[in-house]
Amino acid sequence: MDYDLIIIGAGPAGLSFALSLRDSGLRIAVIDRLSRDELADPPEDGRDIALTHLSRRIMQQHGSWQRIGDEHIAPIRRAEVVDGDSPYALHFDTPDDGSDGLGFLVANFRIRRAIHDEFMTLDDGFSLMADSPVSRVHSDDSAAHVTLQNGEQLNAALVVAADTRFSQSRRQMGIAADTVEFGRSAIVCEMAHEQDHHHTAFECFHYGRTLAILPMPGRVSSIVVTAPADQVDDIVDMAAEDFARDIEQRLKQRLGAMELIGKRHVYPLVAVHARRFYARRFALIGDAAVGMHPVTAHGFNLGLSGQDLLAEGLLAVLRSGTDIADPAVLHRYQRRHMLSTRPLYHGTNAIVGLFTDDAFPVTLARKAVLRLSNHLPPVKWAIRQQLMAKRHLSSLLPI
Ligand SMILES: Cc1cc2nc3c(=O)[nH]c(=O)nc-3n(C[C@H](O)[C@H](O)[C@H](O)COP(=O)(O)OP(=O)(O)OC[C@H]3O[C@@H](n4cnc5c(N)ncnc54)[C@H](O)[C@@H]3O)c2cc1C
Repeated sequence: MDYDLIIIGAGPAGLSFALSLRDSGLRIAVIDRLSRDELADPPEDGRDIALTHLSRRIMQQHGSWQRIGDEHIAPIRRAEVVDGDSPYALHFDTPDDGSDGLGFLVANFRIRRAIHDEFMTLDDGFSLMADSPVSRVHSDDSAAHVTLQNGEQLNAALVVAADTRFSQSRRQMGIAADTVEFGRSAIVCEMAHEQDHHHTAFECFHYGRTLAILPMPGRVSSIVVTAPADQVDDIVDMAAEDFARDIEQRLKQRLGAMELIGKRHVYPLVAVHARRFYARRFALIGDAAVGMHPVTAHGFNLGLSGQDLLAEGLLAVLRSGTDIADPAVLHRYQRRHMLSTRPLYHGTNAIVGLFTDDAFPVTLARKAVLRLSNHLPPVKWAIRQQLMAKRHLSSLLPI
């Protein structure tokens, strides 16, 4: 074997998985098609990521959280959901149990940089192969084989893929995936504003468009507009001042005068859930396993929790001296991770369906959903627990 483990994809999920295996003694290669410079200093991509308590804990254990810098982390203390022009809001506050927020917002490029920098402190057992697109993955009973675009072949006991929601290796390993194309895109950017956001996140389901406002450090918010794909060019081509006036108006001036900072970035919305998370000597993590619609802000949180569950399984099998690609271990990872991913994936897609369909009975149903969720304490408690996610769901069940 060239390596014990090859990780395809040096994105935040792939590198976090390597960090989880820091003390494993395994020889691990992480391979990415991007250049060393792009991996070390990722460009600003407009994405600001809402992280749960569990994600913060995992990143703290890795040492990557400490590298972000407190001044770049914004707590979310309250979340509000409003429908159409109605002033009625479903709201969630930080519980009175010593929690320092419902969650935390950090720019994606800062997360990527922090995880990369921490990875670079790992010892000689870990290597990062940049500028190395993978062209083929296959496996047999004795090893998994990775072929690079330059023709080089590498073998390992196990290959783990974190190579985007459009994962080529997932397809090559014969793993089917359910895909939803929403026909909509997210336009993301940051905006400065006159009034304080009071660390409140808003989700406004306006007719035709949805608008999320997420509190960043200072008087700055992350703006996520989702709109039908055929309207996206018009929104992105609007002059910065017109765009700012439009957002101010949609927010009914609650943040005062607003100003666009930097670029507007566009992400076509596609959600993907792999039907299996493993094959022979192969496993999926990150978006390659589950790529979420961003409205519920679960994508990277699931990526972090999934890699943590898989690493836990591998560390246990290493202690017992068995093959790290033992199907029983990979199967257990799949069962534990799917316990969270399936309900969140289908629940998120159902929310998107409900809140982007503007037909009359549906708009009535969503008003009812907001009021019911506000007035039924167990429902509200369950949603807030899910938002905060302090521990793995599977740790609460005998799995
Ligand atoms: C607008 C938006 C908002 C979001 N907001 C949130 C949020 O609030 N909270 C949250 O938890 N998540 C959020 N997400 C999701 C989050 O950004 C993703 O889940 C996360 O970035 C995925 O990380 P990853 O490492 O799995 O994949 P990626 O970041 O896609 O990395 C994959 C890596 O694999 C490499 N690669 C691919 N193919 C090959 C190949 N053939 N050979 C070699 N290398 C390859 C790529 O170069 C890349 O570096 C959001 C996403 C979007 C689009």
